[in-house]
Amino acid sequence: MQVPAAFEYAKATSVDQALELLAQHGEDARVIAGGHSLIPMMKLRLARPTALIDINDVTELSYIRVEGAELRIGALTRHAELLESRLVGEHYRIFADAEKVIADPLVRNRGTIGGSLCQADPAEDLSAAFAAVDASVVVRSRAGERVVPLTEFHVGPYETVVQEGELLTEVRVPIRPGGGSAYRKVERRVGDWAVAAAGAAVWLDGDTVQRAGIGLAAVGAEHFRAAEAQEYLVGQPATEETFAQAGRIAAEHTNPTADQRGPVDYKRHLAGELTTRALRAAAARARGQEA
Ligand SMILES: Cc1cc2nc3c(=O)[nH]c(=O)nc-3n(C[C@H](O)[C@H](O)[C@H](O)COP(=O)(O)OP(=O)(O)OC[C@H]3O[C@@H](n4cnc5c(N)ncnc54)[C@H](O)[C@@H]3O)c2cc1C
Repeated sequence: MQVPAAFEYAKATSVDQALELLAQHGEDARVIAGGHSLIPMMKLRLARPTALIDINDVTELSYIRVEGAELRIGALTRHAELLESRLVGEHYRIFADAEKVIADPLVRNRGTIGGSLCQADPAEDLSAAFAAVDASVVVRSRAGERVVPLTEFHVGPYETVVQEGELLTEVRVPIRPGGGSAYRKVERRVGDWAVAAAGAAVWLDGDTVQRAGIGLAAVGAEHFRAAEAQEYLVGQPATEETFAQAGRIAAEHTNPTADQRGPVDYKRHLAGELTTRALRAAAARARGQEA
């Protein structure tokens, strides 16, 4: 049986208290949210925090609401809540698509949006979905808060800009009416991490692409984004040929690694194909068609 190293434990009931506790317990303290990533890492001794600050009772971080022209999602929102949110579904169907294929109901009932982003696993689905819709995150410390675009949030595999003593508190997604979005993933079996995955958001002006966002997971895309394919799409006709070409461009700029989920060429091929499929579905939804 794998057992974590000894650690202290403290429970916070507010953001201020969590920040206070993080400061008190010093650099080796870690926040625990759903625990679905941190606890397994502690059992394997890949993480050895000296203290866990439990934020599960910080209810002020559990919400989904619209404020101005933004969808705002508290860091403690569970995967299952994002999946079931009608408000989110009204604006961005990409999240229900992604959540349906993240793990299983047990993990989704407990795992949080903030924990997923802070874990920064290169195969993490929500990072790709949030990248596609141009999200940013709010990071708070005792000194104040900063808003970080998702394109600057990840600094490497399992590494983000969140520093010692800081808490991710919120994800913000701009609401841009009239678009469509979708997420497509290939996994080896139900509930598994992605072999490759792509999310797309598309806004059309008639039959021309006015704006597009593409996020990729598990294929080594910089900041989970297919920036070159996004740029190519703007001003192009929203056709099958255009989406296939965007898929080719996205695939070219990936940097997958070979592992038990497949070789490099296979993952690169999937990145292209899934980008095309996500774009096709997103454009159909933007036109009010079923996809
Ligand atoms: C069997 C299984 C299958 C899975 N499959 C998938 C999958 O297919 N796709 C996918 O994307 N994910 C998958 N996951 C991961 C899942 O989505 C987890 O919920 C997620 O990785 C972590 O969320 P958590 O709330 O459990 O975070 P925790 O494990 O509590 O924390 C993870 C890390 O984030 C930090 N942290 C947490 N919250 C905050 C915060 N608010 N501010 C600052 N730091 C914070 C913690 O200190 C820790 O370092 C899977 C997990 C399991 C166990």
